Amino acid sequence: MSYQVIARKYRPARFADITAQEHITGTIQNSLRMGRVGHGYIFSGLRGVGKTTAARVFAKAVNCERMIEDPKYLKEVTEPCGECESCRDFDAGASLNISEFDAASNNGVDDIRLLRDNVRYGPQKGRYRVYIIDEVHMLTTAAFNAFLKTLEEPPPHAIFIFATTELHKIPATIASRCQRFNFKRIPLDRIQGQLQQICDAEGITADADALQLVARKAQGSMRDAQSILDQVIAFALDSEGERVIRYEKVADLLSYIDDEHFFMVTEAIANADAAAMLDLAGMVNRNGYDEQDFIEKLIEHFRNFLIIHNLRSSKLIERPEPVKERYQRDALRLTPQAIMAMTDFLMQTQRELKFYAEHQFRFELALLKLIELGRGTSQMATAPADEKKKPEPVTPPSASAPATPSKPAASARRPKAAPAPESSATPSGLPPVPEPPTAPPAGRAAARPQGAKAAGSIDFGSWKQSFSKFGSNADQHLPAMNRQRVEESADHAESGAPVAVLEQLRMEWGRFLEHLSARGLQVLVSHLHASELVSCSPSGVVQLGCCRKFSYEELQHDSALLESELAEFYRLPLKLAVRYDAERDACTREKSVFTMFKELSETNELVRYLISDFGAELAY
Ligand SMILES: [Zn+2]
Repeated sequence: MSYQVIARKYRPARFADITAQEHITGTIQNSLRMGRVGHGYIFSGLRGVGKTTAARVFAKAVNCERMIEDPKYLKEVTEPCGECESCRDFDAGASLNISEFDAASNNGVDDIRLLRDNVRYGPQKGRYRVYIIDEVHMLTTAAFNAFLKTLEEPPPHAIFIFATTELHKIPATIASRCQRFNFKRIPLDRIQGQLQQICDAEGITADADALQLVARKAQGSMRDAQSILDQVIAFALDSEGERVIRYEKVADLLSYIDDEHFFMVTEAIANADAAAMLDLAGMVNRNGYDEQDFIEKLIEHFRNFLIIHNLRSSKLIERPEPVKERYQRDALRLTPQAIMAMTDFLMQTQRELKFYAEHQFRFELALLKLIELGRGTSQMATAPADEKKKPEPVTPPSASAPATPSKPAASARRPKAAPAPESSATPSGLPPVPEPPTAPPAGRAAARPQGAKAAGSIDFGSWKQSFSKFGSNADQHLPAMNRQRVEESADHAESGAPVAVLEQLRMEWGRFLEHLSARGLQVLVSHLHASELVSCSPSGVVQLGCCRKFSYEELQHDSALLESELAEFYRLPLKLAVRYDAERDACTREKSVFTMFKELSETNELVRYLISDFGAELAY
């Protein structure tokens, strides 16, 4: 017998076999029982969640002889019998009562006219002719219009089922004449359960973890899960000769970045181990993993910690039991505030990564930044490590933050004595945490006797080295601000080095605004929302461009206050210059909120979805 792919072999033949769409199959079965079958349906939802399958079962059910002739069966079972002539025709793919039409390749007016002509003829056998129009959103406007008439006055024997992944692209004139069913993403455990059943039926023993991995990779699509399982079976079975699917093989096949790697990230954060972090970044790069993907999974990793912190339970974490236990244990190593800060930062990095060519560099920088964001929040776990370093007589001169690449000379160049620890937030926006007694030395000035792996210090040697592939003048290839930063840290004691780097100010800008809000300066913050950081001169003059006249005047008025807040937050001797950006003002004014909303509703997937599925509208 020829090989049949799993998705086809195990395609549901009954409503009850369609996974996780009970809200739809139940409604359809009800309407069958009551004899209230409509003429137009829209099945929307992600690919591979059962839209076409449900449409086929529906077509089979409305024509099933037993359903038509046996009221008791109809009432009690409400499934195609699979035995009558019509059902057998359907199963053999020989029924004339079902036409599947792919709108992606037949999307013109002529195609629709052909279909329309075809619709006029009733069924020779059975009750209904069912037309399944897949990817219906691909039809041209003209094609939709050609169809409208048919949909308005459908022949009594015709049922149209429009399947689409993009509901919002269907004209309202069509959508309003149909019953709409939105298919849900299939939950992980339901996919896993289905895969388990298939393995059982195939006589294959599979690790639960392995199947969970497959299910996770499919991201809510049953068809994807089944295709991956096909691949896994082909890969995992032949070499061993036994019908067993092991986790390691699947992880290997799917180039899956193991949870272990993410625990290594948290480990490096907790130990402030920059070298380990860079090793990890190198591993990601060497293995050809996608950095964005890694960051996305890292965000999920932090989310899992937050779940533990908030719920004190790991039941919402979709992982094997031992991994859940590890989450339980490791969650305590970081405070929720630090986790939030890191998650925020990672999401920002993820967005930014798209716009830069030097992914690897930014990726490394981002991982190193995590160490800084997590600093001081993990004494509990690092206590033993700190203990070992106790003999070293290096105590920071003040409560200043230790130097890191992203905050190179902050402490060294503080204009005034360290402020009393009354300030409500540290530069990273985290609540103040008492510095551990054995905090690492502040800045290079204090030297680094422990070598490259010294806690809290960044190993610039290896950091720079990772760019050596650019050639001998590697530094010149670094983006300007980073080059500046590297140089700065290397010899920040020299005079004439810039006080601050614009990029660095920008990175912390959101937190600065939060800090102002926390101090009750919300009005100032709202004016700052109309402004952006334009530049920062070597002497520390920060230029702010404001695109709203009124806000500009208010900021001018409060510039002394703002300047002192700025200097205190960043712990740098910054000066402020506010400039009115008339050009941007004009263009924002021209582009009213309504225009922007309209633009977004056309270009932004999410906004479109909110509008089409939730009826979102602009409230301004
Ligand atoms: Zn039947």
